[in-house]
Amino acid sequence: MKISAEDIGVSYGVNEILKEVSIYAKNKEFVGLIGPNGSGKSTLLKCMYRVLKPHRGCVMLDGTPLDKMSYKHSAQSIAVVAQHNSYQFDFSVKEVVLMGRAPHKKIMERDDARDYRMVEEALEQVGMSQFIERSFSTLSGGEQQRVLLARALAQQTKCLILDEPTNHLDITHQLQLLKIVKNLDVTVISAIHDLNLASMFCDRLYALKDGVVVAKGTPKEVLTTEFIREVYHVESEIVEDSNKNRHILFL
Ligand code: ADP
Ligand code: MG
Repeated sequence: MKISAEDIGVSYGVNEILKEVSIYAKNKEFVGLIGPNGSGKSTLLKCMYRVLKPHRGCVMLDGTPLDKMSYKHSAQSIAVVAQHNSYQFDFSVKEVVLMGRAPHKKIMERDDARDYRMVEEALEQVGMSQFIERSFSTLSGGEQQRVLLARALAQQTKCLILDEPTNHLDITHQLQLLKIVKNLDVTVISAIHDLNLASMFCDRLYALKDGVVVAKGTPKEVLTTEFIREVYHVESEIVEDSNKNRHILFL
């Protein structure tokens, strides 16, 4: 499934947050969105997962404009792990993951054995099986993040949108989460804070700054010392490890 955002513009009052931004991810491609805080990454992703209606431009899913699809239909295609999640009520982990099954149900249709099996499998995949009966609000930030990924997995979509999914996670779980996502074989667009993780996992990157795409290409093409100096105002060196993986050292 291909997802694209075409000439997206978002403004709040006189502030143009996104200025004609175009990005896409081809079928099964893992695309990373990088850029300093406040550059517009979350705003762009919100347009792509339909929480925000862009003031200009449109989002297309395999050639169909997203705003022409029903919410249910688009939720059958796109799952999201957003940055801030809080629930008004105290749901259990099982209930939170079950929400991922909702787009596949008819009105008032009950959850069945298949839904529960998918919930168990999704929790197993993120290593959170033992927490199934716990209340979501009592989990640590990192545990909540893994449960939210499980909810997205249970949704069984061909496209996944992630907004800084490795925030709150220790390095073990950062790598675990990104490996799970990489192995899903679905289309992924993810904002990623950590440039080294972006370099390890993404097929292609877009860099946003002040609401404009300032660089795009493979991690090797984008992540240069000049780029890091211009966009982040930090000096760096790029080294290769014994497996030929590139690493950025910040000086
Ligand atoms: P990022 O995810 O790259 O850190 P965001 O997309 O969250 O950036 O924010 C981009 C800019 O838009 C920021 O300057 C932020 O303050 C501003 N912004 C986001 N949402 C709103 C809003 N609802 N009203 C006004 N400004 C907003
Ligand atoms: Mg953000």
